[in-house]
Amino acid sequence: MADPAECTIKVMCRFRPLNSSEVVRGDRYIPKFQGEEDVIIASKPYMYDKVFQSNTTQEQVYNACAQKIVKDVLEGYNGTIFAYGQTSSGKTHTMEGNLHDTDGMGIIPRIVQDIFNYIYSMDENLEFHIKVSSENGQAVETVVSKTNLSVHEDKNRVPYVKGCTERFVCSPDEVMDTIDEGKSNRHVAVTNMNEHSSRSHSIFLINVKQENTQTEHKLSGKLYLVDLAGSEKVSKTGAEGALLDEAKNINKSLSSLGNVISALAEGTAYIPYRDSKMTRILQDSLGGNCRTTIIICCSPSSYNECETKSTLMFGQRAK
Ligand code: ADP
Ligand code: MG
Repeated sequence: MADPAECTIKVMCRFRPLNSSEVVRGDRYIPKFQGEEDVIIASKPYMYDKVFQSNTTQEQVYNACAQKIVKDVLEGYNGTIFAYGQTSSGKTHTMEGNLHDTDGMGIIPRIVQDIFNYIYSMDENLEFHIKVSSENGQAVETVVSKTNLSVHEDKNRVPYVKGCTERFVCSPDEVMDTIDEGKSNRHVAVTNMNEHSSRSHSIFLINVKQENTQTEHKLSGKLYLVDLAGSEKVSKTGAEGALLDEAKNINKSLSSLGNVISALAEGTAYIPYRDSKMTRILQDSLGGNCRTTIIICCSPSSYNECETKSTLMFGQRAK
């Protein structure tokens, strides 16, 4: 086992390309890149563990942001990967991408595939239980045993994640199908950002339990994958009434998350996990000897400069 003091919070920064409406509007492409670890906006440099330019592939992002965490989860550690940024900055593209396309797949389908590959390559006596659940009502659980690729039922519900249903799968494709269904159920509202702004955080939990059927040695690791709600300021969305209250709640839960992560990064004794529902859910997978990666997603357009700076600042607080 690796040294527990190795607890790491890594902050990665990804810029998407300009989209067609930004090009038509004549927006400027504002980020300037020098090395692999910094980006300059309006003459100000921002440093991260890694910065991905707009042409970075999904595979490169996966290799840098998730591969190591998946390996650690298979060794019994817990971890969390977040995507943070304003609506339309590339969070869902990064976390999910195109679930059914080899090049377009984002982090979640690549993780599922990696875990299945690992299972197929393992010792006959190991039995794995993988549970995938999402906050928006979909969950799958699978038990894969090399001696018998059978699928068993498990009545346990996922702790703290309310409203989950469970299902049992035996291939990566079935996991993707469940994610697709979860997406069509997701609560989405239209705001005047010209895009469908996701009003909720989407939390996936992949729980891998392994048991050596001869020695009864058990190992369990869980990985939360969080596609956060858009971080844009309430005023820009033009929300009113109930939508405004919801937007304020989202802003509040994102700032609580920021507070928890910066307390962890500073090594403060008191970590304010209890300040929001999301940080309570993630408590045992954030801090301690857990692996945490935050991917801050940014638009490169001059139109979004203000939001991009605020996203870049959020990422710096975690360093
Ligand atoms: P968010 O989840 O942050 O609201 P999306 O991931 O849905 O944003 O991205 C908005 C649009 O931009 C989508 O059409 C997506 O396919 C596209 N996009 C995002 N990131 C990239 C990228 N790195 N390369 C190409 N297209 C991207
Ligand atoms: Mg999204």
